[in-house]
Amino acid sequence: MSARVDAAELRRHPALADPLRLCAALGLTEGGRRQPTGWLVRCPVHADRTPSCSVTRGPDATLRWRCFACATTGDALDLVAAVRGLDTRRDFAAVCREAAELAGVELDEDGPRRHHTPAQRPAAPRPAPEPKPEPKPTDEALDGLAGVLGTIHRIDDSPLAADVTRYLEGRHLLAEAKADGWFALPPAPRQGELVRWLAELGDHGAEDVAPEHAPSWKRADLEALGWLPRIPHGAARLCIPWRSPDGLVTTIQRRRLDDGRPKYVFPDGRGARWPYGVERLRDGAPIAIVEGAIDAVALRALCRMYSVNRDVIGLPGVTGWRDDWAELLSGREVFLALDADKAGEDAVARLAEVAAGAVKVLRWTPTGGGDWCDELARHVAATKA
Ligand SMILES: [Zn+2]
Repeated sequence: MSARVDAAELRRHPALADPLRLCAALGLTEGGRRQPTGWLVRCPVHADRTPSCSVTRGPDATLRWRCFACATTGDALDLVAAVRGLDTRRDFAAVCREAAELAGVELDEDGPRRHHTPAQRPAAPRPAPEPKPEPKPTDEALDGLAGVLGTIHRIDDSPLAADVTRYLEGRHLLAEAKADGWFALPPAPRQGELVRWLAELGDHGAEDVAPEHAPSWKRADLEALGWLPRIPHGAARLCIPWRSPDGLVTTIQRRRLDDGRPKYVFPDGRGARWPYGVERLRDGAPIAIVEGAIDAVALRALCRMYSVNRDVIGLPGVTGWRDDWAELLSGREVFLALDADKAGEDAVARLAEVAAGAVKVLRWTPTGGGDWCDELARHVAATKA
């Protein structure tokens, strides 16, 4: 004989409080991803091609969910409603009937009561803080962060990323940016919520999850990155991961899309350790050196358009060359493709000196003036004409 329950009890029922059970029952696990504290599934509210919606168990032991693309949040009943095409406010009784059916229970004779009595249980004790937090995020931690952010905030037409996507699309950089795992932070007012979620994932640690599901970062890594309690320069929303030769993300550069300053920010004390694109260098291939990640992907797109065999690396600023990178140029044809202005020419003169091991050193500038982004735009326009 099944128990009769009200809405609050429904929310606490294991069939509705356990992210895996409810997601599986609602058919959301297909195409979803297991996360340390629940599931990342395709959002039932907006047309979500890859998972953006985090379904976890909250501190009150009931289920909650949050879509990082459309910003919808809710509890278990809201999730049932969203999947069944119902509205929790308008169709509350019907939503409860659906939920009761999923849980295999019967509702109170009085019908479901809307009143939500939050379970006043103490939150599960947090794991003790690390005795000595790492002074800086490790590459593994940053790589993990960039990985999860690149999944939930990837550049696509979702409401929180659409402006960033349009910016890149307008410059014909979208395909290269996607290929390099660039992503878009949500607008600043939503960033606190995001970092709290990331910190919570980090806190959860590997204690009760399989190692392969454990996040690679801790709350302390977010603090070291300067992202807690909020991300500085929140208007800089286009995120550009810079990697090491073995492909690990070593820092996340961010760019503003409006005219505000600073236009680019690196995390404090965590500038580029390698030029942008170093992980794509092929042995002995000709190499072009440009200024910055945007120009690097623009020139790469141009080389792809015309099947020009050249790898491209971007310096973190025109004066950002480091002499311990000289080894990267050794045995290659080197094209110095920095801007044709005073700063660019100064950098070219210096690079020509350090590229002693290069087979050949040549200057390369856009034929139409400006930077490689301008050149790419001209070529795309000419192709369409
Ligand atoms: Zn959504």
